[in-house]
Amino acid sequence: MPFFRELIGQSRSIHILQSFLKNGAMPQALLFEGNEGIGKRKTAEIFAQALFCRLAKDSTESTEQAIEPCGSCLTCRKMQDGNHPGFSYIEPEGPSIKIDQIRALQSQIVIKPFDGPKKIVIIDPAEKMNAAAANSLLKTLEEPPHYAILILITARASALPATLLSRCQKITFQPLTLSQVITILIEKKGWTKSEARLVAAFANGQLGVAFGLEVETARELDEDRHRLVSGADLFQAAADFGKDAESFSAAISYLLNWFRDLLVIKSLPDTRHLDPSMLLYSWRYEEMKNWASAMGSDDILDVLAHMQALHMAQTRNVNRQLSLETLLLKLEEVKNGSKAAR
Ligand SMILES: [Zn+2]
Repeated sequence: MPFFRELIGQSRSIHILQSFLKNGAMPQALLFEGNEGIGKRKTAEIFAQALFCRLAKDSTESTEQAIEPCGSCLTCRKMQDGNHPGFSYIEPEGPSIKIDQIRALQSQIVIKPFDGPKKIVIIDPAEKMNAAAANSLLKTLEEPPHYAILILITARASALPATLLSRCQKITFQPLTLSQVITILIEKKGWTKSEARLVAAFANGQLGVAFGLEVETARELDEDRHRLVSGADLFQAAADFGKDAESFSAAISYLLNWFRDLLVIKSLPDTRHLDPSMLLYSWRYEEMKNWASAMGSDDILDVLAHMQALHMAQTRNVNRQLSLETLLLKLEEVKNGSKAAR
């Protein structure tokens, strides 16, 4: 079981929770809001453990409010083994969280805790509550027993009723940076740095997506999409990626990232000082350098504007294959044309 200090990229939310722990003044309804897979649930578990742990104390000597669970007392061990009686989850049964589950929670939560000062219930993902369940939960949020703490976890707060939201103190979890995602993948998946970079890039920097992706799959995606910029058989690439909306969108997003990387390279006065973590497709750096030297920043901005327009046009009835062909031809022309002019 990790500690607060082991969570990556959420220091602001953690700081707020630690100040609750330190002051003992605790909202009874919390809403943890933020993208999938960035540590909301893990944070809620550590928060609960720190709240239950009798030996929880400042992990630093400074004035920082850095309270951590001890990790070894009986209470902490019960939490780690998943059998602390004061802690429970409500999760979807089937597609949604139903009113019966909320009723069961209500009859259980009125019984005072016998093993610690609090009872903590995590509802995850909260937006899966159907209307009846959410309405029923509202009654509990209006008058919770003094020892109860409810933590609603969601990646889509806007899908929750406003009446529910207004009863909760919101804690926003920040999106992770690409390098934070890479660090976590190295740690949790045991991947090398280059493997983690590859997967993170094809998960668009989303940790939840990255966890579901294999290195081999990411390699195949890289090889496949690289055809869009390699210049080899661009008509075949346009046909393959123009065949349906999903492939088309993947192609545009690959190209947008590619040219954003080029802009980063362009913006550096001296590429010897390039930090590869600044590039999404860092393993293509050598090839990108050639592109960057062949194209002016204006060319790149032109191309990006063109692709943004294509991206927007997707919802209309565009001929995907034809517009990809036009785009890839334009790229070749800009790349080679500018080169010839030098
Ligand atoms: Zn403990």
